Amino acid sequence: MRTKLREGERKIFETRAHWITVIKPFLVLLLAIVLMVLSFVLIKEQTVFSRISHWACGALLLVAFLYFGYREWFRRRDIWAVTNLRVIDEQGIFRRYSKESPLDKINNLSYDQSLLGRIMNYGDVEIQTAAEEGATIYRRVAKPKKLKETIAHYRDEYGQELQQIQAKAATSAAEQKPEETRVCPFCAETVKAQAKVCRYCGRDLPPAKTS
Ligand SMILES: [Zn+2]
Repeated sequence: MRTKLREGERKIFETRAHWITVIKPFLVLLLAIVLMVLSFVLIKEQTVFSRISHWACGALLLVAFLYFGYREWFRRRDIWAVTNLRVIDEQGIFRRYSKESPLDKINNLSYDQSLLGRIMNYGDVEIQTAAEEGATIYRRVAKPKKLKETIAHYRDEYGQELQQIQAKAATSAAEQKPEETRVCPFCAETVKAQAKVCRYCGRDLPPAKTS
């Protein structure tokens, strides 16, 4: 995930489009490999025809490989992450696009699975937020049930999580007490209360008052 987490935020779950979404380019690649092998196995004689067919199969294989690689790369870059505070939708290879919804703004959650989806563990997840964009539907996401349940669980815990983070921030702020100081009687600069020598004028300071 490329989005930076906030103070006290932690990632709970991450998912992406199921590999079934790249099955077509994968099959094309597989077909190109088979054709390449066949062209060498079946066409043995050295003719112009054999050279052309080898080159054609090679070109097809290259294109199929690039096509599959691009689609798979895009799939890996397109993620859905759930943290204890928000849902982050991140995508894009060269330009990053990301959209996030605070969990407390999510009104409705549902998911839908076809029979194949139930077998392979993918499905469409729909999230309705209070924002103007309304609903976001994610098609053929891997582990849709887990995604929905994680969002639902942390949406219910949202207030508590926020309280914990605020309490932690308050404690750490209280721990950083400002250092005690006093004013040098000779040069009137502010020095540390326990200093024996003034760091500005170099004179010996009267002993510090012990409280
Ligand atoms: Zn001084």
